[in-house]
Amino acid sequence: MAPLFVLLGAPGAGKGTQAKRLSGLLGLPHISSGDLFRDKLAAKTELGRAAEGYLARGELVPDDVTIGMVRDRISQPDCVRGGILDGFPRTMAQAAALDVLGKQLGVSVGRVIYIMVREAVLVDRLAGRWICKAGGHLYHGRFNPPKRAGFCDLDGSQLYQREDDKAETVARRIRVYLEQTTPLIEHYRAKGLLVEADGELSIEDLSAGLGTLLSREAIR
Ligand code: AMP
Repeated sequence: MAPLFVLLGAPGAGKGTQAKRLSGLLGLPHISSGDLFRDKLAAKTELGRAAEGYLARGELVPDDVTIGMVRDRISQPDCVRGGILDGFPRTMAQAAALDVLGKQLGVSVGRVIYIMVREAVLVDRLAGRWICKAGGHLYHGRFNPPKRAGFCDLDGSQLYQREDDKAETVARRIRVYLEQTTPLIEHYRAKGLLVEADGELSIEDLSAGLGTLLSREAIR
């Protein structure tokens, strides 16, 4: 079965950054539920409108909406060899739905990488985060600054801050994560799929370690 590699971790743990690097390294699509929601929102689709308030408040979008959206994405032909899931599943109901969906599509959860970062570090990281408009490349004012302030190193486009990276919303997103997602860690640990990763390592060291681990399991 083609593997889906799941990245778990609080907002700010580095899931998106690592998912992008692993996607390039393993040649598998990066499937970010947060990016999918933001795309739908920007395109003003019905789903985007239904999700808008939840995103603004830092709350989880209801499971049926989220599961349907991810089902559509994983059913696309580029996912036949698997993919890197970033931000999904976040609840036990989503994990159960993913198992069912995987059976239908011939994919299954391979490894679940839990990226661990202390809460104080998470808040610091999110508050300084900048994203490029054209390609979604990630920067941080202090930890990973662009060469020219306000512009992306890779494509020169302008950088912006996410609405939900503001201080009050950040705190809520971390709390929601801890409440809803922590049971998933135990669930995947019990299944023997969990890998605990040190999210306070440098971006390069962490992705090198994860890349070595996952490339043994990816189907070439
Ligand atoms: P992220 O980019 O992963 O931090 O997600 C941004 C926002 O999208 C979250 O705060 C939620 O409102 C929504 N979201 C993303 N993934 C999920 C999910 N698996 N379940 C429910 N809501 C989600």
